Amino acid sequence: MMRRKLVAGNWKMHGLKAALPEVAAIARAAAANPGVDVALCVPATLIASAAGVAGGMPVGGQDCHAAEQGAHTGCISAAMLAEAGAALTIVGHSERRADQGETDADVKGKAEAAHRHGLRAILCVGEMLDQRDAGQAEAVVTAQLAGSLPEGAAAEWLAIAYEPVWAIGTGRTPTAADVAAMHGAIRAKLGELLGAEAAAAMRVLYGGSVNGANAAALLGCADVDGALVGGASLTAEKFGPIVEAAAGL
Ligand code: PEP
Repeated sequence: MMRRKLVAGNWKMHGLKAALPEVAAIARAAAANPGVDVALCVPATLIASAAGVAGGMPVGGQDCHAAEQGAHTGCISAAMLAEAGAALTIVGHSERRADQGETDADVKGKAEAAHRHGLRAILCVGEMLDQRDAGQAEAVVTAQLAGSLPEGAAAEWLAIAYEPVWAIGTGRTPTAADVAAMHGAIRAKLGELLGAEAAAAMRVLYGGSVNGANAAALLGCADVDGALVGGASLTAEKFGPIVEAAAGL
């Protein structure tokens, strides 16, 4: 099964309107590499204006609430993201699982809400360092996946991002063998949950300290279909080479 690579940026809590020229520059890098899907997930306050300068590059949010509306101060619904111009959203990022106490069931509901409103979703899973050291990484990640996978999960609207928590923003990355092993385990679990055909079609991204220097090696691992990129997605200068590396594979 030939899966197009997807490189998605996650700006986290970075980005005021002064950063819009950077969004436009990233969109130009995306347009220059039409063989790769590129998306940029920005703060909710920036979605509408980023979508306005992104050309054909999809702009996304970083989270949505599972509910349609209600008394949820400070939260954003999938309908709000879509109305602002988002085409996708991240759900279940480890920073939200840790900081906001999001459970697998919460993440499942968020992904389902995104789908109800026509958004694509990138669903994040990943183990902590002590879990890896204890030899539990695959068990933890596949259990997260089973608990978070939305009803009706399909490659047309859902991608999985494997993000070892200890690799996010640290400059550390797993070995290529560990990445390939985990992505293989994720795809096998998807096969159990969704069937072989759906599992073979679904993109599984790697995330955690991806940069221009390591992107080709990480994205070239078996069963890796792209990257979710934090720090190195903030400028076109850093993000462009990752997109180009994906295009070269
Ligand atoms: C992320 O937060 O999703 C991420 C992968 O961050 P970084 O690339 O900075 O490690």
